[in-house]
Parts: sequence; structure tokens; C-alpha cells
Amino acid sequence: MARLVVLGAGVSGHTAATFAKHWLGDSHEVVVISPNSKWNWIPSNIWVGVGQMTPEDVVFELAPVYQKAGIDFKQAKAVSIHPEGKKESEKPYVTIEYTDPSKKGEIEEVEYDYLINATGPKLNFAATPGLGPEHNSLSVCTYQHAAEANDHLQIAIEKMKKGEKQKFLIGTGHGMCTCQGAAFEYIFNIEHELRKAGVRDKAEIKWISNEQFLGDFGVAGLHIKWGGHIVSSKVLAESLFAERGLDWITGAHVKEVQKGKLSYELLDGTEGEEEFDFAMLIPPFSGVGLKAYDKEGNDITDKVFMPNGFMKVDADYTPKSFEEWKGDDWPKYYQNPDYPNMFAVGIAFAPPHPISKPAKSVNGTPITPAPPRTGMPSGIIGKTVAHSIVEMIQGKADKPMHHASMAEMGAACIASTGKGLFDGTAVALTVYPVVPDYDKYPGTGRDPDYTFGEIGLAGHWIKHILHYMFMWKAQLKPGWTLIPE
Ligand SMILES: Cc1cc2nc3c(=O)[nH]c(=O)nc-3n(C[C@H](O)[C@H](O)[C@H](O)COP(=O)(O)OP(=O)(O)OC[C@H]3O[C@@H](n4cnc5c(N)ncnc54)[C@H](O)[C@@H]3O)c2cc1C
Repeated sequence: MARLVVLGAGVSGHTAATFAKHWLGDSHEVVVISPNSKWNWIPSNIWVGVGQMTPEDVVFELAPVYQKAGIDFKQAKAVSIHPEGKKESEKPYVTIEYTDPSKKGEIEEVEYDYLINATGPKLNFAATPGLGPEHNSLSVCTYQHAAEANDHLQIAIEKMKKGEKQKFLIGTGHGMCTCQGAAFEYIFNIEHELRKAGVRDKAEIKWISNEQFLGDFGVAGLHIKWGGHIVSSKVLAESLFAERGLDWITGAHVKEVQKGKLSYELLDGTEGEEEFDFAMLIPPFSGVGLKAYDKEGNDITDKVFMPNGFMKVDADYTPKSFEEWKGDDWPKYYQNPDYPNMFAVGIAFAPPHPISKPAKSVNGTPITPAPPRTGMPSGIIGKTVAHSIVEMIQGKADKPMHHASMAEMGAACIASTGKGLFDGTAVALTVYPVVPDYDKYPGTGRDPDYTFGEIGLAGHWIKHILHYMFMWKAQLKPGWTLIPE
């Protein structure tokens, strides 16, 4: 009997663990180690952040779902990986620390035959002084953060109803952030809610982000077939912002967030300040800080992880200039090069480089979006890696046979621009490939036949239906395997 251990029960880890168990049946063990008792459909946190959903709407308890599936769930956080075992035994293992209230703080060693690291991001608020809900800005990255953001939004709305003006700043809180798409959804949802509340005229709403141009989204922007024309995401984003009276600052590294005020540096080296009553700023992401040790107990964290804390996989990490970047740099199998029974999926794998063109301010401050790993690629990669591992466990293959490079993969994305059964809208778009290939698709780097979009009420309905579909699928309800990632 082989044991697959999955670290993390988010989009990619949960997908990997549930499919692996489905395919392996009772002959082999699947163990999931994750610190939270609940699963969260993170994309709908945006709607929690504007009071259109409750935290309960976007989560469910993991333990009963895993029990039904025959997956062993340990509510704990992984602390270190020992891919060579230890002196007494060569069996690889992970050290975990329980967060389960009944065993809180207890340490355990969990042996594995195969390991999937799906630990996602650490929300690195500490990278910018004063950033984050514990200090001077808000976040929607967890459902708890989003609920807190909504509390502040409701207070701001009440003040505006009494005639007070309020200033909203939405965007990224550091020069190296990713996940601009989430902030994009949030600024539009805020604007939509303020209009519905009849207080839009009392609000100044401004975007601040590290993108070199509006519509970069960390994927070097897009050229999208939109209403029969090929339009750049810059033109589209600027027109959507202008239509709604939203102002923007781009190419910004937020240096510090104080109470009601932040300071930033721009690519041209100039510095500025913005005052605010309400600021939702996405933090930069890093790996969750797992350590790795060899069998002698020597620290090999640098061998297994990149300096940003994400795990090395079969990517080409050779430093190269933007002009030399190739689709082939991106990993295909998500297998660690030194320890072939160890994989990293979703946000936990180390990308070879950004997707957007790197930039530094004239003072040398890097201001470049980090590459996003959104839900659909994270789910697909999790399932693909599970497939490879299952075949190796079953003796059908001696190496991973299934690949899912982001340079060969398309993604669909539906960005909410306001929730409402009849007045909601969303931008629905597909992009192929996620990582542009300028050799294959000269000019835009992407296939114009498969990179298209539209905005409207239908997009909102699809986004809303997807919420229920993914919640259904993640709870392994009837037909769950048929719902795509
Ligand atoms: C507000 C917001 C809105 C978004 N909206 C969209 C959207 O509309 N569409 C889209 O495609 N994508 C969206 N995304 C991105 C999407 O949420 C991510 O792509 C996806 O969650 C990544 O999956 P993951 O499994 O890599 O990480 P996660 O889903 O973050 O999962 C990581 C898991 O690892 C666990 N973990 C952490 N530390 C440890 C540890 N030490 N040991 C064990 N487990 C650990 C965590 O508790 C969690 O269960 C959004 C993101 C945000 C923040």
C-alpha cells in the first residue's frame, strides 16, 4: 500500500487529493494535511467583501467530506520536509504541527511515498510597513478578511449617507504583487455597491497597482477579440475605468501604509502620497516557509525551494533576459528535480520568471507583477499531477506521463464587475495560452481565435452559477468528477 501525502487543501491540493483517492480506491492511502478546518471558494470572497455573500456561503467543513471519501485529514500545518528520511530510516516524511483544537501544538512525523506540496501563498503583509488588516489596510484574500472589509464598507456607506465624502483606494500593496484580477473585481464591485446605495457621488475611488499599465494583470496584458475587434486589455480596462469614473495610478510600489495615508514610488522614480478612508490592498505572495532537511539533518531548504519560498520543479530557472524567455521555461510535470517523488502544484510551485515584462524604477526598485496562478490552472495542474502519481503508484508508469504547462494551457476567467440578478455584470474571457508564446503567435503572443471576451449580465450569471458548481464539486456531491476545473 502506497501513501500519497498532500500538503494544503485549497484549489489545487483538494483537487489533487480527491481525484487521486477516486482513482486509487481503497488499495492506497491519501492523506491531506492542511491548517484550516474549512474549504474556501476564494473567488467568491469578493462578494463577501461587499456584503453580497456571507462567509458561510463560501466555505464548508472539510473533515466530513474527507471522511466520506476515505481520505485521512490531519488539521495541521506542515513545518518541514525530509525527502531522504533520517539516519534510522530512509523513508521520506514531513513534520507537521496540529492546529486542530483537540491536538493543538502537537508535532507528528508523517511518512510518504509521494508528496504533493499545494500550500499556496503566504500573504506577505510584512513586506510593506503598515500593510494589512492587522495594521492600516484591508484585504479580501481570506473570507475573514473579506468580512472585515465589508464591515468597513458599510460604515463608509453610512457616513456617505450622512453627507460625508469618502475616498477608496483599491489595488496592490507592494511592487512585486500578483493577483491584480482580484483587486480589479473588488474595485468594480465597490463602485457597483455605492451606486446601488445611492452614495456614488460622495465617493472618490482610485486604483493603485504595480502593473506598468492598466490591464496588464500580471500576464503582460492581452489582446482580446471583443465585439468582433482585437482590442488590447489596456484600452479595455481604461475604458471600463473611465466609464465608471475610476481614477488610476500604475507602476506603483507602495512603500508604507499609515493610518489613512500611504506613500508610493513610481517607475519614473517620483514619490507620492494618497490619503484614504478605505484601502483594500492585495499583499505580495511568498511560499509558506516550509523547511527541508537531508537525512543527516542538514538544512537543504535552498536546494528544494527558491528564495521566494516556492518549491523548485521541472522549470528552467536559468536567469535570462525578457527577450530570451520561452514557453519551454515553464514546468510541465511539476516534479522536483532532486526528489522525483515530490511535486508542487498551484501557487506553491516556483515559476521560472514573471510573465509581464520586468521593470525597475529609476532608483532600482523592482516594480513588476509576479505571475498569477489562477484557479483554473491551479485545479488543472493539481488533477494532472494526481493522474501521473496514481499511474506510478499503480505501476503503469515509472515517471510522470501527464503534463500541464501554463505555456500550453488556456484559461477561462470571469471577473465580476458588480453582483446582481438583473443589474450585475462580469467580464468573461478566455486566454490561450496563459504564458504568451511570441514565436508561435507573433505580435500578441496568443491565439486570437481562443483569446476572446465580453462584458455583460450573462457573464455575471455564469460567475454566480460557477460559485455553486465549484462548491458542489468540492463537496464531492453526485457527478462531481464531471465538473471541469
Ligand atoms: C480574493 C481573491 C479572488 C480570486 N478570484 C479568482 C477568480 O475569480 N478566478 C480565479 O481563477 N482565481 C481567482 N483567485 C485565485 C485563486 O484563488 C488561486 O488561484 C487558488 O486559490 C490557488 O490555489 P492553491 O491551491 O495553489 O492555493 P490555495 O487555494 O490558497 O490553497 C492553499 C492551501 O494550503 C494550505 N496551507 C497553507 N500553509 C500550509 C502548511 N504549512 N501546511 C499545509 N497546508 C498549508 C492553506 O490553508 C490552503 O488550504 C482569487 C484569489 C483571491 C485572493
